[in-house]
Amino acid sequence: MTRVVLIGDINIDILMSIPHYPGPGEDAMAEGLTLRPGGSVANTAIVLSKLGLAAKMIARAGEDLFAEVALSAIASQGVDTSGIQRDPDITTGLIFIPVTEDGERTMFSFRGANVHLRPEDLEEDLLEGVQLLHISGYNFLVSPQREATQLAVARAAAGGIPISLDVGVEPAREAREELLELMPQLSICVLGGEESRALIGTSAPQDVAANLLARGVQRVGYKLGAAGCLVASLEDEFLLPGFEVETVDTTGAGDAFCAGFIYGWVKALPLPAVGLLANAMGALATMVWGAGPVLPGQPEAIALLQEQDSLLEKTGYQESRLTVLQTLEE
Ligand code: ADP
Repeated sequence: MTRVVLIGDINIDILMSIPHYPGPGEDAMAEGLTLRPGGSVANTAIVLSKLGLAAKMIARAGEDLFAEVALSAIASQGVDTSGIQRDPDITTGLIFIPVTEDGERTMFSFRGANVHLRPEDLEEDLLEGVQLLHISGYNFLVSPQREATQLAVARAAAGGIPISLDVGVEPAREAREELLELMPQLSICVLGGEESRALIGTSAPQDVAANLLARGVQRVGYKLGAAGCLVASLEDEFLLPGFEVETVDTTGAGDAFCAGFIYGWVKALPLPAVGLLANAMGALATMVWGAGPVLPGQPEAIALLQEQDSLLEKTGYQESRLTVLQTLEE
């Protein structure tokens, strides 16, 4: 039975390695190409599923080859794709990313069918028996995906189902008012520095937490990159250091962090244990190249928490480590 429903974008990412970025009208001969499923919420769904929580993804894709690739990739990780709408007229979202030799990435984004998610096609019983609804701030940028998300939020609120939001930088700027109005309904709000500056005009961790909690958010997950995170509720606040890992690519770190946070929350873990797991999933995501199906799950989380025993003892999170390990191993 579905435990978490996630509404957001599903894309195909195409990465091409080129020697240098071409000028207007010039050609660039690529030396390599990678095609993979993408989308921030799709990544979170994959990590949740790999942690062992039944996740159902709601999005809209085209009726094209890209949709086949993206849907089968997330379904192969155990994510329920039965609620993904198909659009006969518009292609699946696609992000084209030329990567030059110095590592610079330029992104061309087409959100495609995603923004055409239709409220009238959401299943009536979508949230029945579900423990949490997770949404992205990007859902509020364009109609009718915006209305579909509003409908799901209204149904969740009416049914007493907790809601989690991954804010996003562009939505913090472009949908600021609407996101602020949503705050009192949020059980979980995850964001980073750039987002919080745009949303509430501050990025000092304690100020961000205090501001969002005062607006009615129950738990805040504030991402601090390699430095870790701050997790806060009205009762408690913990600044957790980042894990010491060999980072190769930070794509998907924030999405994996969200999954760790949601998992911890659904399993009713104490707040420091929730932050610890979120931190672990974010750190693990930076150890792999790319995102999607290569993102970490339960075995990787267990291995990292076992390996970093001494770090956690030093920082005072030894008890949380044992709590998380026990839950993951159940
Ligand atoms: P986003 O990917 O959304 O920009 P961050 O870069 O802050 O967000 O990363 C999300 C989380 O992933 C961080 O809060 C942290 O837990 C973890 N993380 C990110 N980068 C590193 C790193 N280099 N080393 C260890 N953990 C990291």
